[in-house]
Amino acid sequence: MDGMAAERGPILAPEVETRSPEDQFARDRDTYRRQVAYLFERSPFYADKLCAAGFADAAVVGGLDDLPALPFTEKDEIRATQAEAPPFGRHLAADPATVVRVFSTSGTTGDPCYMPVTRRDLDSWITMSSRSYYAGGLRPGMRVVSTYNAGPFVAGAALDTLAALGVCHIPVGTGNTARLVRAMQLIRPEALLCTPSYAAYLAEHLTAQGIAPDGLGLRRICVAGEPGGGEAATRARLEAAFGVKLCEAMGIGDVSISLWGECDAQAGMHFNGGDHVHVELIDPATGQPVEKRDGATGELVYTALTREAAPLLRFRSRDHVVWHSSRCECGRTTPRVRCIGRTDDLLIVRGVNVFPSAIRDVVATFAPRVAGPILVRPTKRGVAQEPPLPVDVELPPDTAGDPALAEAIEKAVRAKLIVSLRVSLVPHGSIARSEYKTKLIDLSGATT
Ligand SMILES: [Zn+2]
Repeated sequence: MDGMAAERGPILAPEVETRSPEDQFARDRDTYRRQVAYLFERSPFYADKLCAAGFADAAVVGGLDDLPALPFTEKDEIRATQAEAPPFGRHLAADPATVVRVFSTSGTTGDPCYMPVTRRDLDSWITMSSRSYYAGGLRPGMRVVSTYNAGPFVAGAALDTLAALGVCHIPVGTGNTARLVRAMQLIRPEALLCTPSYAAYLAEHLTAQGIAPDGLGLRRICVAGEPGGGEAATRARLEAAFGVKLCEAMGIGDVSISLWGECDAQAGMHFNGGDHVHVELIDPATGQPVEKRDGATGELVYTALTREAAPLLRFRSRDHVVWHSSRCECGRTTPRVRCIGRTDDLLIVRGVNVFPSAIRDVVATFAPRVAGPILVRPTKRGVAQEPPLPVDVELPPDTAGDPALAEAIEKAVRAKLIVSLRVSLVPHGSIARSEYKTKLIDLSGATT
């Protein structure tokens, strides 16, 4: 694995992470051409898909500069080819004998999607996510408690990364807060890996049990799995509660675990996929490329450059981000992003785009007068909504709703997001907590 030598500085793989974007692009050009040739040779799925789009061979596809001319790959296409020819569809591009692991998705929207990986695929995931965790402050020998299950999901590969990084890993898995708390009290881990919702839940749980969250000896919390850890108010609250530095990481199951990871400068998550994954920024409505300038927003689209078993060209992530290309004080030259929501969660309230996570961010600035959880309750199914948008906002324990608070939240959201809400203040504990990802939208009151 590159950059895993015994002598380590503040950056795990400086030869990759401090390279100029132009140098990276030049290198990616060569890797991309090899990958496209591989797709025509080994992937019936891509050979057919590209031919159907008018790209008969690798020469017609051209180079990385021509990438925006190619069709996107949607998750549904992978699902469809797998349904047609189980288990991997016409998508498997490697010799089945070289597949060392098969991950699967939760299958909430149909059959699970299976994801085969070869040894080299797994190694490149470990390479990329090691950069992320190292940026987030994990070091060899550090005691790190994780709440991810090895399970069937790609997130389980994070456990391979922790082994490769040489941390002292304390896996407690999902679903047993009492076990986690006891392990923290006895083994005193310095770092905790979890989702931001779970960190918030844990802080509440500890306080209710009379245990001071900041007395457990934690120094770092690395959150991943959903947006939220990058929201300034949420972050400040968690950092104060636990007495830690909080860093965010983000991956995408189909492409890699932890493709992005935040450094101590906390100015967005650095891209850690260098040499293995190429990333584009697009306008999700038009599919057109968005220029990667500082402050640009759009959806991330990924192209795997070295993938063997389940390659992906222009895979739409549905992750909507703010892009940062300004210089980071840590010395890394890789671009950074802050995830602002899932394209799928986007609501358009009388022409104004709004992500539920952005509403949560504004509401969080009202803490401690609010507990944190919110639930958006659209009155109609689909993206387009009429104002005011109903939103439940949970109160702290033993407090009653004050109409002036609801009004102040509505006003703040209108000022920041240009969206009218109808805020209902609900008692503490009435919005369901999750040990994994928290639901921000409830469609139970929506008409079709
Ligand atoms: Zn940095």
